[in-house]
Amino acid sequence: MHEAELKDKQYVWHPFTQMQDWVSRPQQVIAAAKGIKLIDTDGNEFFDGVSSLWVNIHGHRKAEIDEAIIEQLGKVSHTTMLGLANIPASELAEQLVGIAPPGLNKVFYSDDGSTAVEVALKMAFQYWQHLGKPNKQKFISLEQAYHGDTVGTVSVGGIDLFHRVFKPLLFTPVHIPAPSCYHCQLAVDPAVCGMKCAAVLEQVLVEHHEQVAGLIIEPLVQAAAGMLMSPPGYLAKVRELTRKYDILLIADEVATGFGRTGKMFACEHEAVQPDMMTLSKGITGGYMPLAATLTTDEVYNAFLGDYTAKKTFYHGHSYTGNPLACAAALANLKIFREENIIKGLSPKIAAAADSLAEIANLEHVGDVRQCGLIVGIELMQDKSRKIPYPWELAAGAGVCLQARKYELIIRPIGDVVIFMPPLSSTVTEIKTMLDIIKRSINEVTAAGWSGGGLQPTDL
Ligand code: PMP
Repeated sequence: MHEAELKDKQYVWHPFTQMQDWVSRPQQVIAAAKGIKLIDTDGNEFFDGVSSLWVNIHGHRKAEIDEAIIEQLGKVSHTTMLGLANIPASELAEQLVGIAPPGLNKVFYSDDGSTAVEVALKMAFQYWQHLGKPNKQKFISLEQAYHGDTVGTVSVGGIDLFHRVFKPLLFTPVHIPAPSCYHCQLAVDPAVCGMKCAAVLEQVLVEHHEQVAGLIIEPLVQAAAGMLMSPPGYLAKVRELTRKYDILLIADEVATGFGRTGKMFACEHEAVQPDMMTLSKGITGGYMPLAATLTTDEVYNAFLGDYTAKKTFYHGHSYTGNPLACAAALANLKIFREENIIKGLSPKIAAAADSLAEIANLEHVGDVRQCGLIVGIELMQDKSRKIPYPWELAAGAGVCLQARKYELIIRPIGDVVIFMPPLSSTVTEIKTMLDIIKRSINEVTAAGWSGGGLQPTDL
């Protein structure tokens, strides 16, 4: 066993991981990376099929980002944004405003997706206090939502497995149905239902709008719920209704931002201009923790006043606007521009769609969902009757462990196999990775497979 694995098992507590299982099994230690491959301590190379938890964009060790960080190291690595400005953070704010949907003119930095959302929630809450509407305190969020792991973001979350235990600690949002046609409980035929889920939202708004500060949504894709995808027009309808009933719309683009959906931001697909947008993950190309909450002049201006009025937004973190991370983000955006990344995505997305059409035909694949280079493949024990595998069987984890034998690292969410390759993956690499997934699904779901002793939390 490599020394790092020993030390890991002795000292480290891993996120979202049942440690009893973790320490009892051999674990892989990543020592290096190049392009879209991760390299372990034995020198084995693996495709990074989930972009190191959906963050990596241009591959690892991308020369331009490496160099930008090194150059910034020669100037200053960190300086606080409380009472001081720094050069990369100012430059990046201008560029983020330049690429964001119109109207989002102000950038509030933080460190990760959870803090970006936490900032948005607190900002939205305080905004209405300043506007003289102190009763607007509630949030609307979607069932199955995931916006992070801090107490505020867990409050607006809706994933029972993760969030139930903390319930006594949380504030309560008004939940609306997840707009996922495959799992819909509201309508028999999504093709002709006229978006009943949006009608439910309107009922909620009619009833509660005077108490509601904002609605938070993962636009187009509820990622951590298992890549649930909303029907076309749903997001635009949410924007229309939130405007009509005077509710702030918070678009959580932590997972969907930076090209993932085929456009720079998911909101662009439906020409939606939210009141706030949260960004992280891909913002630095997957190099460093950094996040931003963008908002409008209207929201920003509501916080202005004499300091004695105490309208200040009293929120901030030690590493907010870290210059090294901002330098990485600037290099990331430069690559988007210079390599025309968004334009280059179409053939990759089409190649994934081709391979997925074959995977959709497999006996134990219930649903295949794709939005750009975000893919969820939902396994079903009985496809025609939509009967899932018993949870204990850990079918999703089984497929992902099988894929490692063929040098692909992926992670499931329950029995949804997630595929989220770096945007720099070539058409050939995308096809190779999806071939491995197909083969792994076939092998794991073949007759007689009984779970192989896996735990549902093994991956
Ligand atoms: N929002 C969304 C939509 C996410 O997918 C995630 C993370 N998967 C978060 C927020 C939280 O981000 P982080 O893990 O960086 O705190």
